[in-house]
Amino acid sequence: MRRHRRAKIVATVGPASNSPEMLKRLFLAGVDTFRLNFSHGTHEDHAKVHAAIRALEAEVGRPIGILQDLQGPKIRVGTIRDGKINVAAGETIRFVPTGSDGDRDAIPLPHPEIFAAIAPGHHLLIDDGRVRVAVTRIGDDFIEAEVIYGGVISNRKGVNLPGTILDLSPLTAKDRADLAFGLELGVDWVALSFVQKPGDLLEARGLIGDRAGLVAKIEKPSALDKIDDIIRLSDAVMVARGDLGVEIPHEEVPGRQKELVRACRLAVKPVIVATQMLDSMVSAPTPTRAEASDVATAIYDGADAVMLSAESASGSYPVETVEMMDRIIRSTEQHKLYRSIINASDPGEEQTAPHAVAAAAADLANVIHSSAILAFTSSGTTAARIARRRPAVPILAITPDEQVSRRLCLLWGAHSILSEDIHTYEEMVERASRWGQEQGFAKVGDSMVVVAGIPFAQAGTTNNIRVIQIDRR
Ligand code: PGA
Ligand code: MN
Repeated sequence: MRRHRRAKIVATVGPASNSPEMLKRLFLAGVDTFRLNFSHGTHEDHAKVHAAIRALEAEVGRPIGILQDLQGPKIRVGTIRDGKINVAAGETIRFVPTGSDGDRDAIPLPHPEIFAAIAPGHHLLIDDGRVRVAVTRIGDDFIEAEVIYGGVISNRKGVNLPGTILDLSPLTAKDRADLAFGLELGVDWVALSFVQKPGDLLEARGLIGDRAGLVAKIEKPSALDKIDDIIRLSDAVMVARGDLGVEIPHEEVPGRQKELVRACRLAVKPVIVATQMLDSMVSAPTPTRAEASDVATAIYDGADAVMLSAESASGSYPVETVEMMDRIIRSTEQHKLYRSIINASDPGEEQTAPHAVAAAAADLANVIHSSAILAFTSSGTTAARIARRRPAVPILAITPDEQVSRRLCLLWGAHSILSEDIHTYEEMVERASRWGQEQGFAKVGDSMVVVAGIPFAQAGTTNNIRVIQIDRR
């Protein structure tokens, strides 16, 4: 089975979608990669979902990606004596480093690293920025702050500190245990939350090695400051607009999204645009016009994938939301302005042979109206280099590596196929012709552009282009 769109759909699994039946319906509706959100659920829950996705994969005969999203050093207030406190603008409140039973003079904030790093003038944002306070005075065991936007502070609400660099490992003790569990299951991607600096990726890579692809979630201003190094050290990037939109002003998020998508395309790394994409479909069968437009914008920006969070995890209309996202993507990609917009944002390619060969293959396929580009790719890199050009024809990415075939479920335009290793040029041509027809991308009389690195099975080379004519079934 083939999808009739280039951008991919990532859907978060949760109570609304974790049964084998729902996972299948969501896959058939268009989900390419499922996200297991380790901020919620038990290991047992995630293991069941993982097994159900792998069983589904075998049933439908298509690779499906699984992304493990680690909670990261999410900061929360502790427990408050009455469960919640109302604070008003202008009021002075205090935070203390203990874990529980505080009041407005002693709101528990059980994170010693905050007390070590905070300074007067820094802001604390509570509950997705609904409450904002500015630090006025620091003591040995308290932080005094003036309320700027008032509201309710209740138990365990999240806290963002946009201007404070905390001396925190990107992996908490919980993350390390979750990561070991995820790698044991065999997830394809691990997403790292609240990345602050390039070293965070190195730390995670040291634990993960090449057992999974590493996704950097961009949701801190400090990550934006070091973005080129962070992208270089990641295998993919998520524009995590939820926390990013709390940490930087709303009006800066759309521009940052465009910058990040462009930088990832230049660096040949898949990029996911995430959060609130069809948010009102959590409780309604149709989105707002602004949400439909937001999904389309990410597609026009050239994102590899768009993501659903609560819409698919806990909403009332998970299948309808995926169907809606699929329709918006297809309609956008078929719009007459799509090509010119996507071409205009091409950041160009590196001036090296592998990149130039991939770009030339994409251009060649466009010029001669080939039905598809077939990329023989052992690490996925050749397919990604071709995808960077955003060619007008589908990319069939053929790999002998099962995990690579699953990771390609995040890459723009790639239809991945798992196939045993090839050894000769004749075998490559024969296989290309067969796969093109079997997977519904080409028929007798069509041409296809075949790209490979020769010698075969040597990762990283992209040095050969061949045009083939399909002359028999
Ligand atoms: P989260 O990450 O859903 O894990 O918070 C995404 C985001 O912040 O946008
Ligand atoms: Mn987040």
